[in-house]
Amino acid sequence: MERKITLTEKEMPKQWYNILADLSSPIDPPLHPVTLEPATPDLLSAIFPMALIEQEMSSQRWIDIPSEVMDKLSIWRPSPMYRAYGLEQALGTPAKIYYKWEGVSPAGSHKPNTAIAQAYYNKKEGINKLSTETGAGQWGSSLSLAGSMFGIEVLVYMVKCSYDMKPSRRLMMETWGGKCISSPSNTTDSGRNILKEDPNCPGSLGIAISEAVEVALKNKDTNYALGSVLNHVLLHQSVIGLECKEQFKKVGDYPDVVIGCVGGGSNFGGIATPFAYDKIHGSKNVRLVAVEPTACPTLTKGIYAYDYGDTAKMAPVVKMHTLGHDFVPASIHAGGLRYHGMAPIVSKLVQENLVEAVAYHQKPVFDAAILFAKTEGHIVAPETAHAVKGAIEEALKAKEEGKERTILFNCSGHGHFDMTSYQKYFENKLEDFEYPEDEIKKALLKLPKV
Ligand SMILES: *Cc1c(COP(=O)(O)O)cnc(C)c1O
Repeated sequence: MERKITLTEKEMPKQWYNILADLSSPIDPPLHPVTLEPATPDLLSAIFPMALIEQEMSSQRWIDIPSEVMDKLSIWRPSPMYRAYGLEQALGTPAKIYYKWEGVSPAGSHKPNTAIAQAYYNKKEGINKLSTETGAGQWGSSLSLAGSMFGIEVLVYMVKCSYDMKPSRRLMMETWGGKCISSPSNTTDSGRNILKEDPNCPGSLGIAISEAVEVALKNKDTNYALGSVLNHVLLHQSVIGLECKEQFKKVGDYPDVVIGCVGGGSNFGGIATPFAYDKIHGSKNVRLVAVEPTACPTLTKGIYAYDYGDTAKMAPVVKMHTLGHDFVPASIHAGGLRYHGMAPIVSKLVQENLVEAVAYHQKPVFDAAILFAKTEGHIVAPETAHAVKGAIEEALKAKEEGKERTILFNCSGHGHFDMTSYQKYFENKLEDFEYPEDEIKKALLKLPKV
């Protein structure tokens, strides 16, 4: 039996799948952050290219992947899908476990799948500069990579505490020609205002977003790019699930359950929506499971409501599961999963009972990552480890029930720059945070009154 299931370049999907075409009712429209009226394309075109705004609102089911984008993606795509024989054996499960390995991209995660497409559409509309924010550095490095390929200058506002603690990610950005600035900075009004109040502010994703959006709003030649949450990001990530379906055809199998970790929802949406298509059209009864950290339980404890996308209330207001834009989660090691909101598409799928959500504490999540490293070899990112944990739980359930089942999970990225988190685990210094229910209730009181 094959361990590694590969596709040739010729077998790469030629179109993205847009699930907006298959929802039972349209997604609630994004609102202007000040007026709370539906956001017009005008508002969005100050920071995004028209092609991406069109994709954001499109109900066309299949959208062609431009050949220039295919060309760059083919550097690492199609990505391999593995049968996890080692893990299955260690668990003694009758289940078959497969995982899609997105760690093969130059930046080490799924994020370049959309970074490449976003850089391409911006360049095509004459934009030569992009600004963005990054927390742990994964998105900043992915967009820098994409910028280098299309001749776009990339300016990244990196949350100060990560900037100081994670020089390797910053150096990757610089290697690809990106410019990385510690946020809050004195290059924007938002940054200067924060620094006036607190010169030693460690920064936050909310502040970094405000700085990046401000630069895009103030400079005609500069646009803003977001690495998750938005519909067009999930569209670009659908290549993951589409490839998996082809890979399953090759081995004559099909999953009973598809699992992914969720931060903003893009890698989960990417692997899950092509399978949701089969479910919606009634041809398959596949379960779709989103895994989140207990410390930031957006889907399992948040409410489904309109909320701001950022702390500074500059980004459009969207309908999603949220813990409140003021919610500050504990500093767990899966930094990429610490977002207060969720992709509107994933939220809607949960609302329609097409997607289930579960939450796990970080210690058992790292236990899962260590078992995976020892049995399958790959050292995964702390974010990805949540999906590994989800898959192991499903495999153990199958064992208990004495039933066969086919499990697929998305291995969103490698953890080569996250080894200090593994170190904390080995030194037994990881803490498990229960979600602070009172804090969530307080934060939810500040939702916009729509
Ligand atoms: C950013 C990131 C995530 C979380 O973001 P999503 O948009 O939810 O996919 C997960 N895994 C890795 C490796 C990441 O870099």
